[in-house]
Amino acid sequence: MIFDALVIGGGPAGATAALLLARAGWSVALVEKKEFPRRKVCGEFISATSLTLLRELGVLPQFAAQAGPPVRQVGFFAGKHSFTAQMPSVDGELTWGRALGRETLDTLLLAQAARAGARIIQPATVRSIARTGDTHVACVEAADSEHDVRARVVIAAHGSWENGSLPTQASRPHRKSDLLAFKAHFTGGALPDTLMPLLAFPGGYGGMVHGDRGRVSLSCCIRRDALEAARKSYGGPAAEAVLAHIRNTCAGADAAMDGARREEVWLAAGPIRPGIRERYRDGIFVTGNAAGEAHPVVAEGISMAMQSSWLLCRALLSYDVRISSEERAAAAADYTADWSGAFAVRLYAAALFAQLAQRPATAELSAAVIARFPPLLTFGARLSGKTHVVIKPRQHAA
Ligand SMILES: Cc1cc2nc3c(=O)[nH]c(=O)nc-3n(C[C@H](O)[C@H](O)[C@H](O)COP(=O)(O)OP(=O)(O)OC[C@H]3O[C@@H](n4cnc5c(N)ncnc54)[C@H](O)[C@@H]3O)c2cc1C
Repeated sequence: MIFDALVIGGGPAGATAALLLARAGWSVALVEKKEFPRRKVCGEFISATSLTLLRELGVLPQFAAQAGPPVRQVGFFAGKHSFTAQMPSVDGELTWGRALGRETLDTLLLAQAARAGARIIQPATVRSIARTGDTHVACVEAADSEHDVRARVVIAAHGSWENGSLPTQASRPHRKSDLLAFKAHFTGGALPDTLMPLLAFPGGYGGMVHGDRGRVSLSCCIRRDALEAARKSYGGPAAEAVLAHIRNTCAGADAAMDGARREEVWLAAGPIRPGIRERYRDGIFVTGNAAGEAHPVVAEGISMAMQSSWLLCRALLSYDVRISSEERAAAAADYTADWSGAFAVRLYAAALFAQLAQRPATAELSAAVIARFPPLLTFGARLSGKTHVVIKPRQHAA
């Protein structure tokens, strides 16, 4: 059998693409490496701008029933300073973003894609892709077997951290400035229910937010050299050294963690690879983090993953890309332009915020400016995409 589309990766980007295409009548195979439910290094906040899409995908009721409280305030904790301001709201009924554990969100989305008719091959890994004429042939490796999956269209939604063998998986030598990521859930603590603060600390940044089941996620990125220094100063496992470093250098984070109890083991990942990558390469469409990644400082990656897949599917469904390579190129051009229009500003804003947060001098300067003009925090949240609605209800081509 030749599928209309093969989707590589079952995170928010892959599941959204598979669901939208299957719903439009395409035959779709999705290959996901990990067994679900699985935890993931992520702050788990979903912007209000994505709630319309969750509704379009048919999972909003389950999301709303399980997600944490509405996030109405944004915060900036740096050194001894702690500021909070109003989170900018999105007009309409779906106003506030909320957080939901990735083990729940990703499972929900993938199950919905299966319900729409996508064939889910999991756990299995796409090892290579070759092309014969207009058909792609993917070598898929499962626990004890290897087989080919053929498809007219391939969508790479494999995230960004893989140094794999696919043409869309980039590798880069290690650098001291690489950002490594950590995350854990906590219960207790003193973080106000509706506040999501950005934590600025020497060599990194992080965030905290209330999610499902009364848990608070703490996630962060830290430079490789700052991590080594923290390990020397505090000893113990890397993640505990990072937490000690954050608590010792960021008073707001320390206060919010007062009385908090860690729920499960720490997760670690990285280095992260912020930046814009090719969105169409060698006949393969690229979406989610694989296409471009904002610094997690803005907590927009899940939204960008789902929204970029929505933009991609809109382009794919506007042309008969299953048949002609000219139409594929036209769809790729539309998608690339739409992607840049939707996400470029927040990528640049995120890069700026990340630089400001990591250096004590610029974090202190930012705090001084915010102290004089607190609405800047709300403005920063706007710049990071918190009110940029990409998807209007009932607009997709399915
Ligand atoms: C510290 C930190 C905090 C963050 N906090 C937030 C936040 O609060 N809010 C937010 O919106 N974003 C946040 N993000 C970003 C967010 O996690 C990502 O942007 C998002 O996961 C991207 O989704 P994706 O579907 O593109 O990729 P992923 O979620 O990475 O999914 C890719 C999937 O592909 C699978 N895969 C990979 N290779 C293969 C292969 N060869 N074959 C088969 N399957 C494969 C993987 O197993 C994975 O399940 C954070 C990131 C970090 C690092």
